[in-house]
Amino acid sequence: MDEMIEQLLHLSATSSTLIAVYDAEDRLRYANDAFRSAYFIDPDETPLWPDLMRRNFTLGRGTVIRTADFDGWLRSTQSRRGKIGYRAFETDLTDGRWLWMTETMHKNGWMLCIASDITTLRADGRSVRQDRDQAIKASQTDELTGIANRRFVMARIDDMLTGARDGGVGCLAVFDIDNFKLINDKHGHDAGDLVLRDFAHRLHQYVRRTDCFGRVGGEEFVLVMPGTAQQDAIELIERMLTTIRFSRPLTNSPDFGYTCSAGIAACLETDSAPDLYRRADQALYAAKLSGRDRVRAA
Ligand code: GH3
Ligand code: MG
Ligand code: MG
Repeated sequence: MDEMIEQLLHLSATSSTLIAVYDAEDRLRYANDAFRSAYFIDPDETPLWPDLMRRNFTLGRGTVIRTADFDGWLRSTQSRRGKIGYRAFETDLTDGRWLWMTETMHKNGWMLCIASDITTLRADGRSVRQDRDQAIKASQTDELTGIANRRFVMARIDDMLTGARDGGVGCLAVFDIDNFKLINDKHGHDAGDLVLRDFAHRLHQYVRRTDCFGRVGGEEFVLVMPGTAQQDAIELIERMLTTIRFSRPLTNSPDFGYTCSAGIAACLETDSAPDLYRRADQALYAAKLSGRDRVRAA
């Protein structure tokens, strides 16, 4: 066994196929020379994926990122990265090479990336395929906030419940901004939209790679937390609510602040997605009734 692993590591180290492994925090833990050279990573470096992407974007190398708004791109990509068991897509490098990238997830959050050079293969039709990938991305993204949309995040609830039936834990949180109608009435609809973006962008920073955060309706959001026990979920949500409490998103009204309420429900083996959602919603209702700006568990 040891010899086999040694040989495997030796072969992958020297392969011209790009191979990398990221941990659950999205830190690069292994990459062969081919991967390191394509993405300009020093031999002993173990960067976080978002830091690596930002560095290469700033220096105009590595992955071609067709946007002027890097933070928006990062948010929408992170909202979908590592949330599905397996993903494969074409991606291009600033040196002109095209790669066929695959991402394989383990349920503990680690990810295996393998990419092959396809520069000379199937070059025609590439722009059609890119348009298709863009359309898929758009169909999974909430337009106003750039995070996952209802369709994408609801499918992740089903994935979490599948894991729960195999004995796993997991929690669902639903969020609803407090007195949002008043915010719209007093400051206008555009200010309301700014608050929605502020909310999504602030909470996005707390979302772990195995979690999925999405906007499901007007001022309603959900966070899917597979592998998370209820007490840990409550602590995470408390930190999120605190961040929102101190946010001052309107430059025209520097004193303006807002809050939100949340309800949490833990997965039961027998739950359907509507069962779980209903319990989280009831907990949210209890949080609203008992004064808002708080989290309640079902
Ligand atoms: P509560 O604390 O009980 O949640 O009170 P609320 O006023 O937030 O509750 P309610 O759900 O009744 O109001 C939500 C309002 O959100 C209704 C609608 O006018 C507004 N809204 C829904 N979608 C959008 C949107 O995309 N942008 C803006 N600006 N407002 C929206
Ligand atoms: Mg509401
Ligand atoms: Mg509300």
